[in-house]
Amino acid sequence: MTSKCRRCGLNRAEIYLAHSNLNLCPDCFSLLTERKVKNTIESYKMISKDDKLGVAVSGGKDSSSLAFILSNLYDKLDMTLIYIDLGVPEYSKHCLEKVEDLAKILGKDLVVYSLEDKMGFTIMDLKKTIYGRKPCSACGAIKRYLFNKIAYDFGLTKIATGHNLDDTVEALFNFYIEGNVKSLVRLKPYLPKTHPKIVPKIKPLIGLTDMECLFYASYKGLPIRTLECQFSKGSRSIRRKEILNMIVEKIPNFKHAFINSHYKRILPLIEQALKNQEMPEIYDCPLCGMPTSLKDAPCHFCKIVSLVKGELENKRMYAS
Ligand SMILES: [Zn+2]
Ligand SMILES: [Zn+2]
Repeated sequence: MTSKCRRCGLNRAEIYLAHSNLNLCPDCFSLLTERKVKNTIESYKMISKDDKLGVAVSGGKDSSSLAFILSNLYDKLDMTLIYIDLGVPEYSKHCLEKVEDLAKILGKDLVVYSLEDKMGFTIMDLKKTIYGRKPCSACGAIKRYLFNKIAYDFGLTKIATGHNLDDTVEALFNFYIEGNVKSLVRLKPYLPKTHPKIVPKIKPLIGLTDMECLFYASYKGLPIRTLECQFSKGSRSIRRKEILNMIVEKIPNFKHAFINSHYKRILPLIEQALKNQEMPEIYDCPLCGMPTSLKDAPCHFCKIVSLVKGELENKRMYAS
């Protein structure tokens, strides 16, 4: 069945957005997608014109779409792409090629941080530590730390990440089930500055689904990776996403309704309830000087680094 685009009424519709029951042609879809992102940015006042914005890119559909949309919407914005090469065989180099192409298309600067060159180890070295075969949580902690550190060192005023609606609903769903209120209140579209060394984080794609990001990236012909990270297969977060997608098959606007009720109704109540609680103390990490919630102890990042380095040191001693 071919139908006309619901917006322009001229072109053939190629995309069906079940959550809003819309059939769209590629042009109208792209336009509405960019408009959605602009609305998110404006309603949360995410970007101001003197911002020096860092965009965390991974070579994936979300962050590539994010960088492309931002440079379309705000052509005068000072914007730098940041890529962290974690040293996953094949995958990291493949992703690096994609972000290099993207930076060329956009005419933006790209900062590449190689974990191996800068820290002397790769994510593969985590395998021999307590993180074992599933280094994803440590990897996430390393990326969060480094994106912030790089942005801080470069004097950037904000970091934009490609977290979309599906990622956010998956994370919220998990925090609800765990009763993890602390993480729940931190998961926001706009996380302002809480410490001089913490760079504010924004998530302009929080209103777009995985599918919308994928369609957008492919219609615009953006360079995106075709490999998956070897560690992502069968991860808990992917399984949770699969379950949420099963719900969406029966209730098309489930994720949109969930996120709306969370941010509009539930979160304000939680924040109100927590208002009189003392803010957790923030300390300087004795090793790197970056902020941490741990007193007289290295930060999470420095702990991971010393674990890996200790393991590498042991190996060298046995080898000699
Ligand atoms: Zn149209
Ligand atoms: Zn540290």
